[in-house]
Amino acid sequence: MKDLSARILNMAQMRGASYTDVRTVTRTMQTIAVKNGRVQEVTQNESQGFGVRVIADGAWGFASSSRDDYADVDVVVNRALQIARASALTKTRNINLGPPEANKGTYRSEYKMDPFMISMADKINLLLKADEQMRRVKKNGAHLVTTAEMVFVREDKTFASSEGALLQQEIIESGCEIQALATNDAGEVQTRTYPWGRHQQTRGFEFVLEQHLVENAPRIAEEAILLLSADVCPAYDATTVILSGNQVALQIHESCGHPIELDRVLKQEASFAGTSFLTLDKLNTLQYGSELVNITADATIPGGLGTFGYDDEGVPAQRAQIVKDGRFVGYMTNRELATELNLGRSNGTMRAENWNRTPLIRMTNINLLPGSWKLDDLIADTDDGIYFDTNRSWSIDDKRLNFQFGTELAWEIKGGKKTRLLKNPIYTGVTPNFWRSCDAICGESEWVVWGTPRCGKGQPPQTIRTGHGASPARFRNVKVFSRS
Ligand SMILES: [Zn+2]
Repeated sequence: MKDLSARILNMAQMRGASYTDVRTVTRTMQTIAVKNGRVQEVTQNESQGFGVRVIADGAWGFASSSRDDYADVDVVVNRALQIARASALTKTRNINLGPPEANKGTYRSEYKMDPFMISMADKINLLLKADEQMRRVKKNGAHLVTTAEMVFVREDKTFASSEGALLQQEIIESGCEIQALATNDAGEVQTRTYPWGRHQQTRGFEFVLEQHLVENAPRIAEEAILLLSADVCPAYDATTVILSGNQVALQIHESCGHPIELDRVLKQEASFAGTSFLTLDKLNTLQYGSELVNITADATIPGGLGTFGYDDEGVPAQRAQIVKDGRFVGYMTNRELATELNLGRSNGTMRAENWNRTPLIRMTNINLLPGSWKLDDLIADTDDGIYFDTNRSWSIDDKRLNFQFGTELAWEIKGGKKTRLLKNPIYTGVTPNFWRSCDAICGESEWVVWGTPRCGKGQPPQTIRTGHGASPARFRNVKVFSRS
């Protein structure tokens, strides 16, 4: 791969590129799923190839291939250069990447148990056991569909640039989920998932074991069945809301993570998820949340699904402050836009789904830093409110301001106690008002780096795995209602 990269860098520079980088990627993904006591899927896909990014005549070009013979390399380099020269016809200024990033190094994500070395039988047995525990619960006339899934990823990649960067990374991911879907004869459907849809981290098989899927399975199935006969969540114009840690994670993802992508802010990217209300005039001036709210974009945190050694521009992983004591202080940047806007060095958030896609500004781990509460104390401290647990649906406008989120279940809180299970709960708000109403955040012991393995962006679409460190948190004066 080193030879291939050197050959490409030479070729592109000789033919007039002012900058070239080459990424070679080998990506293996294993999926194992069971449904209603039977194995439903066992697949392993491997994808290998290289992508070349060049700047020529002051504009970007990109091309890629899964073949690495000499003839194909020649074609790919020429195509990248042709695209750059064609793009230059409509450029408004020359691309400037700022100071060179000539980093050299290797990175390997930390894991104790290589998931690809664990036997398929052990993996399937664990899933079947969890599935069986879900199916054994008392149905009370309900019908139950149960599924359990594991996903493992290994990504080996190298990055080399004409500035002298040479990087090698190996990243392992492990993910899992169990789900119980309950229906009754009236046609109602309720779903419970654990840990929250598919939870995933850059760790080994030990991550799956730590989730205790089998032990949690009966509770998840029971809750799905109980929800069928639960009361519908009442409506309030303004009440107190406590969000579970995994719902805080989703709240961060949609209302903070996407609007701090600087390419959205500059309207260079708008497809699918829209632009951003966090326009440049808001930087360092907008009170985004209450003084308790501190948010970072941190690609260095152990185990996070957005954790790596270097981004796909060869910039080292960093921890950037996004919201400090409630004030909005930073975007996720890349080399080009950080230079253009005088924001200093890129904070290293350029990520590509695979070798055949050009990197975009993507979330790393966008974390709400822990406070000092415990969830039990927070509930005991709440006279009247609703506890929302585990995301079920989300909707947010294309500036990321007005949102509406539903969870799988909720609990009514009266006099500091959980009193009633509620179904179909929804809360709604406006991003800064909502975060400004945050008056309590739980501490380190309840803080988890939740993995969101399916964040989409770009055309052609790219799916990236992002992380969100979060613990339960309380918000005041929130509008609540129920899904009809
Ligand atoms: Zn997303």
